[in-house]
Amino acid sequence: MADVDRAAWRRRSALRVVPPARPRKLAKVPFVELADGRLQGVVSSGSDIERVYVSSVTSGSHAYHCSTNNNRPCGGLRGAPCKHLHALADEAVLQYGIDRVARYLRVEVEAGVDTGTGLLRRLDARHEPTPAAVVFSRFLRHLAYLELPGSTAPLPELHWFPATGTAR
Ligand SMILES: [Zn+2]
Repeated sequence: MADVDRAAWRRRSALRVVPPARPRKLAKVPFVELADGRLQGVVSSGSDIERVYVSSVTSGSHAYHCSTNNNRPCGGLRGAPCKHLHALADEAVLQYGIDRVARYLRVEVEAGVDTGTGLLRRLDARHEPTPAAVVFSRFLRHLAYLELPGSTAPLPELHWFPATGTAR
């Protein structure tokens, strides 16, 4: 695609596209953001390619939740953050850096803590259901912005989708 088109797309986009601090695993966590007072995002199911989880941790209160995009509660939540929340936190640290994520969630981390899992361990966390719909619709909007005009190059952001899901 011509640079001119690319620049135009950037200007039109209402979402800022920030290059990650370190490369992320998009297939596992296709969407992560610090927004609406939450660390939130979408995590692929490890076992079922057609299922995704919406996971979030609220800033300040450290209330966490994980459910499918249809609001079915995650079976991995048993008094502690599930593996999806761990994956989300790890990817958030790759995307934004540990300092920014810790500041946003308002959690103290000592020097040497450099993973999302380490960060989750320092939360005074409790489970509190939050609706998945808002996060999931932000994710779909995010995907829409990735549909760059005139490009036939494969988008790594879409690789996690089953082949039948987006080839419309
Ligand atoms: Zn989960």
